[in-house]
Amino acid sequence: MGRPFLALMLACSCFTSCAYKLTSYEDYVVGVPAGESKKAKGEVSLTYLGTSGYLIESGKTAIAVDPYFSRYDLRTVMLNGLTPPKEDVICEGVKEADFPKDIDGWLVTHAHFDHALDLPFLQKEFGGRIYSSKTGRALLKASGVPARSAKWTTADQRIRIGDAKITVLSATHDRILGMVPYPGELDGEVPAPCRAKDWRVGEPLAYLIEIGGKRIYIESGGMGNVMPSSKAKGVDVAIMGVAVADSQNRYPDAVKYLCPEYVMPTHQDNFFEPLSSGFHFSTTANFPKLLSYHKAKAIPGKVRLMEFCHEWVIP
Ligand SMILES: [Zn+2]
Repeated sequence: MGRPFLALMLACSCFTSCAYKLTSYEDYVVGVPAGESKKAKGEVSLTYLGTSGYLIESGKTAIAVDPYFSRYDLRTVMLNGLTPPKEDVICEGVKEADFPKDIDGWLVTHAHFDHALDLPFLQKEFGGRIYSSKTGRALLKASGVPARSAKWTTADQRIRIGDAKITVLSATHDRILGMVPYPGELDGEVPAPCRAKDWRVGEPLAYLIEIGGKRIYIESGGMGNVMPSSKAKGVDVAIMGVAVADSQNRYPDAVKYLCPEYVMPTHQDNFFEPLSSGFHFSTTANFPKLLSYHKAKAIPGKVRLMEFCHEWVIP
């Protein structure tokens, strides 16, 4: 049994064993079920899609980041079972999250299955271009996304999606037992990905999204002592990946560095469980530890959490 497999097994077993929900943290929970949300003209909202997925809407423009509804169970992932996008489950998810008729653009932080697997189906249903790393583009094209809709993007590029200005930022992927899961980069013609392991990480990216007068930073995690880009300093909302110890150790310094108005720790749910079972923290999340930094006023930013498919209008 190889070291990567052991690392993955350990990570996965941690993700499964914990079941604490948001009820203990009600003071930090924002948003209402997406279908019930009332947004005034010009306001910007975030809808949480589970894992590190968000729908960002300004009324004029809709952008989705890392939407993943299929949420394959641990057994299928570990035993290398086939993982086609679950079309029925995706349709239920987008209904629950009250997706608009069209999505203007899709952003991908990295090409792992829990960030990119559902995109070929979603892009077909909702249109819009998908922006991802070279690896992500290769895998998405191999999954049937037309070349004109699968755009390769890299750090420091600027993208325009509707009325949103986006700056692509460099990022890192957090390590489990010192290793990045499913490592490697791909380019050109590749076989269609059939299993979780086929979705290689590629170049990790983060995004600064300027939309409707708000500045939103979004990433899905990062390596211990690598700070986010300085371009995202002073954002209104920083969505920070905290799936495992590596990114949690970086959290206090990264938040202090960015100095956001609001912080939304993300990728801390058990994504091997279906969306219909509601938000459950994974064991590796260690949200109490993150919260302790804020309670001690050691770092800036007001912490916010969201239930799946709830929408929050950014104040
Ligand atoms: Zn990943």
